[in-house]
Amino acid sequence: MHLEKNPPYLVTIGLEVHAQLKTKTKMFCSCPVEYGAEPNTHLCPVCLGHPGALPVINHEALYLTTLAGLMLSCEIPPICKFDRKNYFYPDMPKNYQISQFDKPLCLGGSVPLHERAYPKEIQKTETAQEKQIRLTRIHLEEDVAKSFHFESTSGIDFNRAGTPLIEIVSEPDITSPEEAFAYLNALRQILIYGNISDADMEKGQMRCDVNVSVRPVDQKEFGTKIELKNLNSISGVRRALTFEIQRQMDLLSRGEKLSQETRRWDDDRGETTLMRIKESAHDYRYFPDPDLLPIHTEELMAIAKKRMPELPQAKCTRLINDYELSPYDAAVLTEDHALVTYFEEAIRLSSQKVRPKILANWIINDLLSALGAASISIIESPVTPEALVELTSLIELGTISGRQGKEVFSEMMISQKSPSSIVQEKGLQQVSDSGAIEGFCDSVIEANPAVVADFKAGKEAALNFLKGQVMKLSKGKANPGLAGEILLKKILGE
Ligand code: ADP
Ligand code: ZN
Ligand code: MG
Repeated sequence: MHLEKNPPYLVTIGLEVHAQLKTKTKMFCSCPVEYGAEPNTHLCPVCLGHPGALPVINHEALYLTTLAGLMLSCEIPPICKFDRKNYFYPDMPKNYQISQFDKPLCLGGSVPLHERAYPKEIQKTETAQEKQIRLTRIHLEEDVAKSFHFESTSGIDFNRAGTPLIEIVSEPDITSPEEAFAYLNALRQILIYGNISDADMEKGQMRCDVNVSVRPVDQKEFGTKIELKNLNSISGVRRALTFEIQRQMDLLSRGEKLSQETRRWDDDRGETTLMRIKESAHDYRYFPDPDLLPIHTEELMAIAKKRMPELPQAKCTRLINDYELSPYDAAVLTEDHALVTYFEEAIRLSSQKVRPKILANWIINDLLSALGAASISIIESPVTPEALVELTSLIELGTISGRQGKEVFSEMMISQKSPSSIVQEKGLQQVSDSGAIEGFCDSVIEANPAVVADFKAGKEAALNFLKGQVMKLSKGKANPGLAGEILLKKILGE
């Protein structure tokens, strides 16, 4: 980002993202991981940090971290190990956190930014560039307990303590708040595609520390890094950065110096405030955890490779190629993993009876807006992929008209009944029996000689009027295509 100030400034951003892994149990004990459980009900001597309790590695957490590494094009070194990171923290009774220091499970890698990951209003602008943000590393560690502060007391919930957590550290490649927004969206999408993390930021399953500096364009080395701690929404990261960049530029242009500090973002007040000044680097006295042996990663790789899903961008391209979807439709569907899973399930169930494009239209236009209006997520959709396929098949077969289909769909959203039973109940079948339609056509022709004459004289719109009359006579049940054909035959054949 090039900011027009005098002198102009360059912006540098690096993100440290924490994501809780989607495992059944904790990182080093067999306590369940469950969001929203009654506080302090999932505990044992290991996750409470009792002296002498021994950690046992959760293998699923190793596979999931390796899978994250593979999906993000990281290098998986042959050996990784766990270290103790020593610091005092009231939410961590061991006084060290088991983490990975010099031998993390994943090195390097990158997150590709795509247009739809950017904020909506800038997606069509030059800012929404497709670029790669390089990663430094991904390491595996344990989450700490969660504290709550009340008016005069504080409480700690140890259920979260020991939850497997990955830290994904980016290189300082991000150059604007909008790019940071796109990075977090793209990363979150990949974690969800891999079933690695639910990455729900409202539930604290994905959290982000933001590092940002600005410098005059003619300065080679990066400016003074300022860290914003523990942001919990993607739009909040964007707002915090926009504020903080402006603050830093204002200070610099007044000739003031910035000091390395950690700041807190207050989303309600829309400003950052000082938490602490970093006087010197932290000394965490890292050393290898003597309770945990180093791990060979070859087997982890073999297992993770088998679980490798299709990446979001690859899926998007395939939907365009295989199903002739527009790039827009494919992008909308693949943006949300649950949504594209719904679509692919519908495709599978329709076994080529309904064109994919038609299913995509129903999902994007009708289903998404109905779900949006009712604030229901796709996972809880009252209309299942099966029901949608049945509905669209009825329309394809001509049993009901497209318009009747919309009526049936609205009813399905409310009652969850099957489309065919709604069609029966409402007596909606289209009349495709040509004998019945012929009768309607005869009556209409007889009753409207002037209009028939107009049509014969070349006024084509007159046919639509007659067709409308046939539909009316049939109470909307006649197959309109068939009605048109029969009218034409009768009038011209006369
Ligand atoms: P620390 O040792 O303070 O943790 P690191 O060098 O490990 O700092 O970097 C932490 C994060 O900050 C990384 O995501 C990195 O890309 C980013 N970063 C490093 N230097 C800068 C800078 N000058 N401006 C903005 N971000 C930076
Ligand atoms: Zn435990
Ligand atoms: Mg660091």
